[in-house]
Amino acid sequence: MELPKHVERILTTLESAGREAWCVGGCVRDALLGRTPEDWDITTSALPEETLSLFGPRAEPTGLRHGTVTVKTEAGPVEVTTYRIDGTYRDRRRPESVAFTRSVDEDLARRDFTVNAIARNLRGELRDPFGGREDLRGGILRCVGDPDRRFQEDALRILRGLRFAAALGFSIAPETAEALRRNRAGLGDIAAERIQTEFFKLLPGDHAAEILRDYPEVFGVFWPELLAMVGFDQRNRHHCYDVWEHTLHALDAVPGDVVLRCAMLLHDVGKPACFTLDEAGVGHFYGHPAVSRELADGMLRRLKCGTDFRETVVRLVEWHDRDIPRTDKSIRRALRILGEEDLRRLILIKRADNLGQSPAFWDRQGELDKAEAILDRLLEEDACFSLKQLAVKGGDLLALGLSGPAVGAALEALLSKVIDGALPNRREALLAHLQETGGTGQKEESE
Ligand code: ATP
Ligand code: MG
Repeated sequence: MELPKHVERILTTLESAGREAWCVGGCVRDALLGRTPEDWDITTSALPEETLSLFGPRAEPTGLRHGTVTVKTEAGPVEVTTYRIDGTYRDRRRPESVAFTRSVDEDLARRDFTVNAIARNLRGELRDPFGGREDLRGGILRCVGDPDRRFQEDALRILRGLRFAAALGFSIAPETAEALRRNRAGLGDIAAERIQTEFFKLLPGDHAAEILRDYPEVFGVFWPELLAMVGFDQRNRHHCYDVWEHTLHALDAVPGDVVLRCAMLLHDVGKPACFTLDEAGVGHFYGHPAVSRELADGMLRRLKCGTDFRETVVRLVEWHDRDIPRTDKSIRRALRILGEEDLRRLILIKRADNLGQSPAFWDRQGELDKAEAILDRLLEEDACFSLKQLAVKGGDLLALGLSGPAVGAALEALLSKVIDGALPNRREALLAHLQETGGTGQKEESE
């Protein structure tokens, strides 16, 4: 395991000043697993003021209360935190006080999981007082210390634990797993933004579906709507799974991207509320995409998701069950409304939704192949599906004497005609059509 040069230099500076310094946490864990760490955190016996003066103008006091100084380097910022012991946890979220210590082992003891409590120094020596390496080898996620106590101190660790298990494919040690379930209600006291951060790191994990399957009641603390899906029998020959199992199979079948995973998790959340049985005893879920959309919107707002993210996800939820006919015209129409990125996402979602149904219906994949082939060709041909691509611009219409909202309306009318194949996307043809229609781009009803 090699340390990057910029990290080595920081460790050297601290050691030259007579202090101890170690890489710690996620970077050591990931490097030992042979993964490339995203960022490197350093823990040191130097007090924050010492770190600040050692690094001069490159150091910023970003979290002094917790002993954190950020050192800027050419390869990005590195957080340098003084060894600390967390004080009593009053509100179950933030330690009431932090005390600095000169013992790296005490600092490691406050960390959440054994695999996150390994330190490594400049010479490659490891400090691993809780058997983190052995758990890494065994693929086991285990609390440092008594799990009940650790989850009661900070309930966010419950979700962090599930997040690491989903990302790393680790199994959760039995006592840790039991404590995690037992203390789940504590998540109710955690700020929505912090839940969102951990949950959105969990969803893209290769093993996210397994974790959702094993711990639905934990996720139900902040998203109780999910629980209505668990065990909900669909009574329909298209489905060999209940709503929740179907959802998890579909979620597993989309790439590990947070938008896709989130849309997949929520696509059928409105199904239980829409269930009807017909005389033949067959189950139906009429109108469920719209209901799912409403529920998803509320759930994402509750987690304080960004507007763009929320709107993208709920639109995919709303569209997931729509048929996209395999024609140039209908693909251009879908492109106009969704744009390329979201139409591609929608196709991935429809594929996965279908793969979560009974295998007898998997032949639907062929239709999606066709839709995708048309989409690729249209984009290749630079087909027109947006105002940006239209061969006439606002200025052309102003020159024809139009003004105000009439300009936008005429452009939209022309675009619709081009998308529907009624007009070619050529300037002369479009301008001629405008002349014919008195500048509106639309024919009179009577004509
Ligand atoms: P990632 O690769 O996602 O950044 P990470 O393990 O580095 O994973 P961070 O949130 O960056 O996670 O935290 C860095 C380290 O700080 C953790 O590895 C762990 O040792 C410690 N830590 C973070 N949050 C907590 C917590 N809530 N309770 C105890 N220790 C924590
Ligand atoms: Mg980290």
